Amino acid sequence: MTTQHPVSMRPQLHGLGVYAPGMPIEEVARRYGISRIIKLASNENPRGCSTRATEAVVREMQRASLYPEALGPELRAKIAAREQLSEEQVLIGNGSDELIRLLTRAYIEPGDEVVMADITFPRYPTNVRIEGGTVRTVPLKNGVHNLAAMLECMGSRTKMVFVCNPNNPTGTVVDHHQLLEFIQAVPENIMLVLDEAYIEYVTEEVLESARLLQNHPNLVILRTFSKIYGLAGLRIGYGLMHPDIAGALVRVKDAFNTSRVAQVAAFAALDDQAFVQACRLENAQERERVSRILLDKGWDVYPSQANFVMAKVQEDGMKWFQALLSKGIVIRAGQQLEADPQTLRITIGTPEENDFLLESINSLYQDGTFQLS
Ligand SMILES: *Cc1c(COP(=O)(O)O)cnc(C)c1O
Repeated sequence: MTTQHPVSMRPQLHGLGVYAPGMPIEEVARRYGISRIIKLASNENPRGCSTRATEAVVREMQRASLYPEALGPELRAKIAAREQLSEEQVLIGNGSDELIRLLTRAYIEPGDEVVMADITFPRYPTNVRIEGGTVRTVPLKNGVHNLAAMLECMGSRTKMVFVCNPNNPTGTVVDHHQLLEFIQAVPENIMLVLDEAYIEYVTEEVLESARLLQNHPNLVILRTFSKIYGLAGLRIGYGLMHPDIAGALVRVKDAFNTSRVAQVAAFAALDDQAFVQACRLENAQERERVSRILLDKGWDVYPSQANFVMAKVQEDGMKWFQALLSKGIVIRAGQQLEADPQTLRITIGTPEENDFLLESINSLYQDGTFQLS
């Protein structure tokens, strides 16, 4: 198809990249005929989800013929109570991905500028560009958001700023004192979106960001049930924000943006904090172990507080991606994340999965050099 379609697409969509997800297990199985496949590509929870969530989903199927409640009021109230906020300060989304889209849809116009790190989560720039906004990136400093430089980058046309903490794909966190100062310094007419998709994995001291909503009406906090809660396949997340912002997002959202099963699964998952705690603990131990072993190999590993690590390697990351894929392990190479091509992002798996990963990496080294068969 070389001719242009007679109906023209919006110009903002030209040159936009399409999100490349981690390769699904089913696709690897088909392509390589391998039965044991370990997916360490999308930062999913290797322990799955709480059995309480599973049971809630099965029960809810009796009501599958009925539309869900549009704002998920029971889940909303539960989150509000946990965060000591009013229900109007909570909005449930079809994953926090949807909330990112709703924020740009409701607030970004052509000419508006949005400040974010280079590199960070690619859904931010994509959604800004779809609305005709301009992306202004500020390089990370040693893999960490450079908040001072981000502040300097803000000008009269700046409408929004994204801070991903811990940052995807580097896994790094910003110092909590510096983050507080930054939140206090961002002008009130600029929306500050703090994406905390991995916050439950952080073992260092964290800023209690929800407490700041009271005095910072421009602050929006995004969380998700896709990561530590293990519900990525059900698509559900939430945002904490000023009621006026929630009101604006409701205007642009689909009527039934989250399903019944997702709502009850998230509700039940919140009740199983023992599961969350166990996942956090195991992840922290394994993150430490995997990081140390990779560092010992001479890989440059960013200090991660998330459930993945990013490492700089000597070779083209795609070679490692291919080599590990042929052994049944799916990771992400920098090129697939629009990051430094000599980097790899690897999700922390179960101890057994990590053992297999580390053995596979070892087997690809011979006499200390990387050998591709
Ligand atoms: C995974 C992720 C999300 C959200 O995922 P959803 O599945 O849409 O909730 C948001 N931000 C970052 C940085 C992520 O890595």
